[in-house]
Amino acid sequence: MTVSLDLGRRVLGGAMMATLLTLLWLQSPAVRAQQKERAVNLYSSRHYSSDQELYDSFTRQTGIKVNQIQAGDEALLERLKSEGKASPADVILLADAARLWKAQNEGLLQPANSALLRTAIPQEFQADQLWFGLTTRARLIVFDSAKLKAEQVQRYEDLANPVLKGKVCTRSGTHPYMLSLLASIIAHQGEQKAEAWAKGVVANLARTPRGGDTDQIKGVISGECTVALTNSYYLVRLLKSPKAEERESAARLGVVWPNQMNSGTHINISGGGIARYAPHPEEARRFLEFLASPAAQAQLANSNNEWPVVRNVPISNPELTRLGQFKAEKLSVSDFGKHQPAAARIIDRAGWR
Ligand code: FE
Repeated sequence: MTVSLDLGRRVLGGAMMATLLTLLWLQSPAVRAQQKERAVNLYSSRHYSSDQELYDSFTRQTGIKVNQIQAGDEALLERLKSEGKASPADVILLADAARLWKAQNEGLLQPANSALLRTAIPQEFQADQLWFGLTTRARLIVFDSAKLKAEQVQRYEDLANPVLKGKVCTRSGTHPYMLSLLASIIAHQGEQKAEAWAKGVVANLARTPRGGDTDQIKGVISGECTVALTNSYYLVRLLKSPKAEERESAARLGVVWPNQMNSGTHINISGGGIARYAPHPEEARRFLEFLASPAAQAQLANSNNEWPVVRNVPISNPELTRLGQFKAEKLSVSDFGKHQPAAARIIDRAGWR
């Protein structure tokens, strides 16, 4: 080292030597890392405006900018596939376990290698360091308590009972929330019973499936439907609506945690992982770790009415807390992905469009 520097002093003038040293310093890995734009590119199918506040607090804490592209789960997966190695995506957030499983199966994710995520997130809500659940939601039965007794709709199975002919509303069976519910029924009861159930529900429909979960709840409120399926946070959102008449009519609905006496209520997750070709994998890992932090977990629960996936995070959301405790199904959410192809075939045969 000394020799080459002495040689350098002799051969090069002082100014040139300084330039050379600067260039060498600029090429050191530590400096290159600092110079790279501190950003994380997020592909997200979460469609909740309150998420932006969360991303802003990540930027304030870390100096890492969040660039977000929002689209549906399926559109994001297609985009990632077509972009291939040139994809700018660092983090992928999806709102359904089966879609995360699909991203994993199609090789669109890389391991996060995060001890923090591995230990903070319960085992049943993560898969091989490739993706991690961040929030949970339950699929509830809501009904018109003037027309039905709660005892008549205690289980998902009850929705296929012919006594409910012309009374049931759901969104399309092809939506991920319905496919994952059916996948869970396949996991608990097998394909044959799941298919009989799907056909029974279709025979009971009050109308051709249309709209999202909120439209099903509103169908019960308007009287077009007597009983419907919805994710828990859509109900809580109506219970907290700025419109008094929405709050009041939501509060009058009958609500059932399905299947408390057998398999437990179906729960799904929203979650994420690091994109296979992430240009900023380190920032991506920090972003996911941030979302699993107690503060971010509480914020997700308080603002979007989901449950934290991390245990024992205190939340402050009276309308959500008032829904009470329930027995959730005991399945690894990876199972929804495994049974997804069978669920899609059943939906197709049942004509649950
Ligand atoms: Fe949703």
